[in-house]
Amino acid sequence: MSSLPVEHDTQKTSAIGADPYLGATQGAPLDKGLMAVLTLATHFKAEPFDAREIAFGDFAGYGKWKKSEATGVHAEVLIIRAWLALLVNPSGDYQGVPLATAISQLRGRKIQASQPACWCCAKLMKQYGILFPSTAGSKPLAGWRHPLAGKTVPNADIPAKESDITDEWLNKVQSGFK
Ligand SMILES: [Zn+2]
Repeated sequence: MSSLPVEHDTQKTSAIGADPYLGATQGAPLDKGLMAVLTLATHFKAEPFDAREIAFGDFAGYGKWKKSEATGVHAEVLIIRAWLALLVNPSGDYQGVPLATAISQLRGRKIQASQPACWCCAKLMKQYGILFPSTAGSKPLAGWRHPLAGKTVPNADIPAKESDITDEWLNKVQSGFK
């Protein structure tokens, strides 16, 4: 695996997906230092880009996210949604894959954020087989949005206990908040 080429800005919630690199940050334009380069031709983009450009676009029947509704969209979720969108709907001459195949292709990829992953992102990354630092996170401070859901789950609907955030809960959130 390649090492990350940039320093993290710890003042922001930000994440870098490694190999291929993909940057995401919330609440501000992506810093130059957080820009990430997709190095593999099979990952469809030669130039660095902001994961939000993809995550907030149309995505194969999974709705268009509005930037004005970005509350609860965590950096990890932006990266996951952007990865899935690129695998399902690649640009250029590349062949897209079905969503289930795209999800299976996330297995083994890495996301490293400047803050520990919240309970929801951590459980989702485990479900998808994405690797991330094991530092314990906490319940999201506000809502949380699943990368394949159309709406953000209000904070009050997120369980108070981490052990109640299960695969079943994630599936319910995905289907219940279209
Ligand atoms: Zn999170």
